[in-house]
Amino acid sequence: MPIILEPTDLSIQRAAEAMRAGRAVAFPTETVYGLGALTHDPRGIAEVYRMKWRPSNNPLIAHVLDAHGAREIVEGWDPRCDELTSRLWPGPLTLVLPRRANVPVEAAGGRATIAVRSPSCPVARRLLQELGGESISAPSANRSGHVSPTLASHVAEDFASELDLMILNGGRSEFGLESTVLDLTTARPTLLRPGTVTLESLRQILGDVDAPELMEQGASPGTAPRHYAPRTPAVLVPINGMRAALALEPRPCAVLCFDPSHVPSPHTDITMPRDARLYASILYDALRSADTLGCARILIEMPPSADGLWRAVVDRLRRATA
Ligand code: AMP
Ligand code: MG
Repeated sequence: MPIILEPTDLSIQRAAEAMRAGRAVAFPTETVYGLGALTHDPRGIAEVYRMKWRPSNNPLIAHVLDAHGAREIVEGWDPRCDELTSRLWPGPLTLVLPRRANVPVEAAGGRATIAVRSPSCPVARRLLQELGGESISAPSANRSGHVSPTLASHVAEDFASELDLMILNGGRSEFGLESTVLDLTTARPTLLRPGTVTLESLRQILGDVDAPELMEQGASPGTAPRHYAPRTPAVLVPINGMRAALALEPRPCAVLCFDPSHVPSPHTDITMPRDARLYASILYDALRSADTLGCARILIEMPPSADGLWRAVVDRLRRATA
């Protein structure tokens, strides 16, 4: 198994040293755990793609300390970024901007743009500081297409065969869903991936924001129809429809629903919170637990809303069940 390290000053130094030597390291963020390497080191970037089995055209998010760090890797500076970054950074908002020519194209999946965000998680920030503010490119620390990790143990499970991988332990990720991705290189700002920073809050700052239904992997690979998926086949069930759906299931199922009384034996109930923020923070852990039960299917009750933070939850549920 990989090595899980408590985030002491010494382990942060070791992690930074490994990155400077061209290796990938896993670390916590407030969204999900990341598998990171120095943005400017193609050796480390290659390691990230190899370990994740990630297609080389799926770009990475660059993590920086602040807007100053972002300006080192983007070309020009869109004036809208000032307000966005002063209000929402550090935090779970990723901006897609023109890539500066000195950023290796491998770190951007071959694109002329680069996605950048500033994490608020203290362990991630200490690692960035230890690296003198150099940018870390990091996708989620899971095998490609699998459920994202929100605990250090999730990372260790996905990369069990990577004996030398260092994982900094930051406990449970605060938000538990990948960042909101906003493209500022299009004619109008475009929401590529909903997240904890809601569409509504972006519209308050920017006015118009396009929010196309992206179920195809073109504009942004995180929009592939099947992604964030457990290994057991999973299906979405309409709100309050669980009893009826389970009546048709001959074999034991794992069930994520709001009311445990809707789940008779032999099915296994995993009760989900009705609060969107709490729901988001435990969703991936619940999907991973459901996967370990050896059930024929995972049934997931549709959330009560598709607005605000629920938009991001529903987006991930649709991809997990596609
Ligand atoms: P992950 O960090 O694993 O959640 O993956 C990062 C996701 O951010 C990718 O799958 C894309 O959806 C999105 N992304 C990163 N860079 C870009 C970019 N240059 N243009 C559009 N989307 C991007
Ligand atoms: Mg990912």
